[in-house]
Amino acid sequence: MAALPMVVRDEALPSRVTIYEVGARDGLQNEKKTVPTDVKAEFIGRLVDAGLPVVEATSFVHPRWVPQLADAGELIARLDLRGPVAFPVLVPNERGLDRALEAGCTHIAIFGSATEAFAQKNLNATLDGQYAMFEPVVDRALAAGAEVRGYLSMCFGDPWEGAVPIGQVVAAGKRLLDMGATQLSLGDTIGVATAAHVGALIDAFAAAGVGADQLAMHFHDTYGQALANAHASLLKGISTFDASAGGLGGCPYAKSATGNLATEDLVWMLTGLGIEHGVDLDKLAATSKWMAGHLGRPSPSAVVRALSA
Ligand code: MG
Repeated sequence: MAALPMVVRDEALPSRVTIYEVGARDGLQNEKKTVPTDVKAEFIGRLVDAGLPVVEATSFVHPRWVPQLADAGELIARLDLRGPVAFPVLVPNERGLDRALEAGCTHIAIFGSATEAFAQKNLNATLDGQYAMFEPVVDRALAAGAEVRGYLSMCFGDPWEGAVPIGQVVAAGKRLLDMGATQLSLGDTIGVATAAHVGALIDAFAAAGVGADQLAMHFHDTYGQALANAHASLLKGISTFDASAGGLGGCPYAKSATGNLATEDLVWMLTGLGIEHGVDLDKLAATSKWMAGHLGRPSPSAVVRALSA
């Protein structure tokens, strides 16, 4: 008997949410052992079959940095890039963009930092200098007809700098949107955000002219706050959430970062709230269990574990 929460609709919340699935990229890039391309392709196929409308597939970073994703071109060649599901890819620079466009990708993501320390460690750039790196990438992606998402890391705290001023996050996010990014994903890279902080950041973006429809939220469950923060975001009208099947992944450059918000945990909450998401929870949890078998350890997702019990 499949368990499901009782549905009690809260009319203050959006009626529909888009889940932006990051497990194949954000999850697998952090695995110590490289997952075979066949397994990645099957994973993505199963995520699509489970109803996820956006499945971030891989990253065209230099294989020296992220050897786990060195098969990006080969993997993309196996996906149906003309179908209804979007398969965004990360690109760090123009060389990565060239590879992504050659592969036929139509959805590109760039990843910026809200802090000086993370810009230096992750991008080898300064906070201000990062925009000069992104500008040609975004210009050329848009000229090629691609959609561009801007990720912003360390929006709620930084392991080297500590607290990150809200105004600094808004300024960095606006720079990415002004460049031409159509969506801005605000990352709680080390999972330290709490609900009122989340609401305050979304309010600050609104005050700066950036509506909830331009934002996505990317939470990590490091301190168990991801769902509370997602709910706080729903109350502010956010309707796109990043999540990772089975809670795969974290961030390789932030040592305290563990655990993307598990897609199953998000789906459970959205289902109970009567919010449409289009995902078949049983298929998704079965996929995460299958992938956990490949990785040799159980999923950290509470919902995957509960459904498997
Ligand atoms: Mg993440």
